[in-house]
Order: sequence, then C-alpha cells, then structure tokens
Amino acid sequence: MKRNIKLSLPHLSGTEQKYIDEAMRDCWIVPLGPHVDEFEHRLESYLDHDDVVALSAGTAAIHLGLVMLDVKAGDEVIVQDLTFSASANPVRYQGAVPVFVDSEPYTWNMSPELLELAINDRIKVTGRKPKAIVPVHLYGMPAKMDEIRNIAEKYDIPVLEDAAEALGSEYKGRKCGTFGQYGALSFNGNKIITTSGGGALVCPSPEAAARVKFYATQSRENRPYYYHEVIGFNYRLSNISAAIGCGQIESLQARVDRRRAIHRLYSEMLEGVDGITVQENPADDFNSNFWLSTILIDPATGITPDQLRIALMEKGIETRLLWRPMHMMPFFADAPAYTDGTAESLFERGLCLPSGSSLTDEDIIFVAESIKSFIHDHRV
Ligand SMILES: *Cc1c(COP(=O)(O)O)cnc(C)c1O
Repeated sequence: MKRNIKLSLPHLSGTEQKYIDEAMRDCWIVPLGPHVDEFEHRLESYLDHDDVVALSAGTAAIHLGLVMLDVKAGDEVIVQDLTFSASANPVRYQGAVPVFVDSEPYTWNMSPELLELAINDRIKVTGRKPKAIVPVHLYGMPAKMDEIRNIAEKYDIPVLEDAAEALGSEYKGRKCGTFGQYGALSFNGNKIITTSGGGALVCPSPEAAARVKFYATQSRENRPYYYHEVIGFNYRLSNISAAIGCGQIESLQARVDRRRAIHRLYSEMLEGVDGITVQENPADDFNSNFWLSTILIDPATGITPDQLRIALMEKGIETRLLWRPMHMMPFFADAPAYTDGTAESLFERGLCLPSGSSLTDEDIIFVAESIKSFIHDHRV
C-alpha cells in the first residue's frame, strides 16, 4: 500500500476552535483584537523577549524589519545565500540590492569569514557599508550568532535575523529570533506552528514595536481624516488567524520536542549507513528545533538527492531538495555574491526528510528503511 507521508503538515492542538469561536462570538474579525494581543503576549513569554508584533506573514516581518532599519533604494543588504527566496525578496521590495554570502559547513548558515570579507569588499567597491545583515537559521539550525554579531558590531551594521524556521531553536540557551536588532518569525502552514499564514517581528523596544504596528496598518497618522506622512503597508495579522495561533502555541514546546525526537529517530536509524549523513547540532551551543531533518548523500554512492526523492515519492513519501542558493536564481543573477562553493555543494548533496510533528514513529521508520534499501540497492 502506498503511504502518504508529507514533509511538514499543520498539526492541530485541539483548542484552536475554542479561540476561533470566541473571536466569532465577539465579532473580532478584523486585523486587530484580543487574540492578536494574546498571541503576541504568549510569543513574548515563550521567547523571553518583549515587543513582539504579529504580522500577516514572515515575509512581511522581514520587509518591515528592513523598513525599520531604514533600508532604501540603492542600499545594499547582506543576505544568506542558502535560504528561501523570502529572506531576500523584501530587499528588492525596498529597491535595495541583496549581497549574498555563502554558508559554512557546520551549521549550513552564513559564514562569518565570508561575511567580513563581503563587508570590506562592499565598502571598497561602493564606498558605503551595507545597511543590514540577514542571517538565517536554516531548517532550525542556529547560525554562528556570536561570530556574526561580533562582526556586525565591529562594523556597526544591524542584524535582522530570519528565524522563520527556528521558533524554539536555541543558541547558547537563548531562543533564536532574539539575537538581532530585529527577528522575523513565520507561522506559515508548513512551519513549527501555524496561523494558516502569519508571521511576527521581534523588536528591540516598545517604541520600535509601536512604529512597526503603525507601518503595518497603512501608516495612518492620528487625525480625523486619512492622512499619511510615510508609505504604509497592510501587514497586520487577522484576529481570526491569531485565534488559531493562540490554540497552536499551547502545544508549541511539545511540537518542538516531537520534531527533535523525529530527528533522533532518523539519526539512530541511519547511523552507519555508508554514504548518508544526518545533519546534527555541531556543538553543545547549538540546539536546533529540527524543523526539518536533513541528510547529505555522499556523491561516491553515485546516487543524487533527486534520484532518492523520486524513489521515495513512488512509495508515497514526500521529500525535498535543499533550498537552491539565491545567487543561482535568475532574478538575483546580477546581485553581488561572496561564495566559496559550500551552498552549491550542499544543494547538490542534500535532501529534506518528512519531519512534521504529527508523523508517527512508524512513519519515520518506514522512511528510514526506504532510504536504507534504496542506497543499498543502487549504490555504485
Ligand atoms: C517560511 C520562510 C520565510 C517566509 O515566511 P512566510 O510566513 O511564508 O512569509 C522566510 N524565510 C525563511 C527562511 C522561511 O523558511
């Protein structure tokens, strides 16, 4: 029988309907309201960080982070090369130029060495510093935040953390999303918890959070008629979506724990399989939420990730190749990029495995056994 094992599906806690019913009963069906406030408060206590603003998407959070950091047309912003396009697209929304920086092989995230090289080279080429640095915690794995923040401080450039995949991840015991001047979270349908679509921006102060809310509600000035001094956005989270979030966040820690347990099971099952490496926390400082468990396939097996993906698909198992590096996207082809081949090499060898918290141990064992037998039967 063909299975139906998906990469990462929404997982209900069971209390979402209660919060939605409350919102409907009181007709809070607008992009503000008690559930938006409550969702923000619960995020703040989970992150142990004040001034979280709920928004309509993670992409909107990154965009408003850039707006808050005064990124304007012609500015340059350093963005991690190996990531989802939503890390970089908002740079273009501002008319600014993304400058891509490659990963290091330990966390697969922004290389501090290449970051510093890129900053110096951009200063030489343009005579100006980049306006911001956007590191990403890919698949939940924390980036080397101490090194990245030291460089950011040395050159006095703010950090906007893309923590869209890293809710619940920790670096040196502190939650991802709280390391930069701003941190972006996502509650898209495939993330650790979902509001169907949504995001949040972690802000450095109550004043900054108030300004983000202002921008997110069309930058309406306090006058009896509609009056705008600056350009606005329609980026606030719907109260109905926030009601779903209130239900979801009750099981957030359980969801993170489950994703970590799934990762442990893959690690155990695939240990000693020649040619397969499960991505692990590289040191004790790193505590990934393992939003997605990922493997690297040694090219010496003669097996490509796409061959394995197709074979698993035939058994009803959904997997996905890694994010394709941004410098390889046609619409970013002209952007400056500081690369040493790490992201390209990861892309050529990597595969994301089904990791949704609603998957059973039996599902994971089936996936791992299927990988094992394919590698066994097809290796050269
Ligand atoms: C999901 C994601 C985003 C965007 O979040 P949305 O809520 O889908 O807009 C940004 N960056 C990364 C790395 C993501 O995985």
